[in-house]
Amino acid sequence: MNAKTKKIAEILAAHYPEPEIPLQHTSHYTLLIAVLLSAQCTDARVNTITPKLFALADTPENMTHLSVAQIEAIIRPCGLAPRKAAAIHKLSEMLVELHEGIVPCSFEELESLPGVGHKTASVVMSQAFGKPSFPVDTHIHRCAKRWGLSNGKSVIQTERDLKKLFPRYMWNLLHLRIIYFAREHCPALRHDASKCPICSWICQR
Ligand code: SF4
Repeated sequence: MNAKTKKIAEILAAHYPEPEIPLQHTSHYTLLIAVLLSAQCTDARVNTITPKLFALADTPENMTHLSVAQIEAIIRPCGLAPRKAAAIHKLSEMLVELHEGIVPCSFEELESLPGVGHKTASVVMSQAFGKPSFPVDTHIHRCAKRWGLSNGKSVIQTERDLKKLFPRYMWNLLHLRIIYFAREHCPALRHDASKCPICSWICQR
């Protein structure tokens, strides 16, 4: 690591030594569903909805016993409900039919499930299985650009750049730490470098 990335990692570690996984879950499956629901929705809102859904079905098999309409009615506050409900139902069927009801531990298998893109798969690989991954959400994308770690052209490029800059063993924790930092200190709008309590020294603008 160069001096800048080392300092960034140190500051983040000092502020968020043991960051919790923000989405409430009790299993690999419930984490997968919560991450899917979090697309274009806040974690806080997802956490208010998932207890209702998981009270009815917290395994792939039980989820297939619900109708798409039942799932949709529960998850509506998360947005994109018709698409997410169909994906939850279908992926649950696929887990039962193809994976013995178990969430698979590979990018290829996860990304073959409906509603599961690379970012969702990365979160599951990182937070469920502890495999080094660097899921890039809007917060991480923004901070990486502001810190001059990536050019901000795409989340794919940001993920590539961050993976080159930080050693693998740091990826899982860094991902969470940057999200917490961005939420607390580095909003998308009204950022003021002169008032940033943590890292105005590295920002390019
Ligand atoms: S100075 Fe501004 S842009 Fe840089 S990390 Fe702090 S809040 Fe974010």
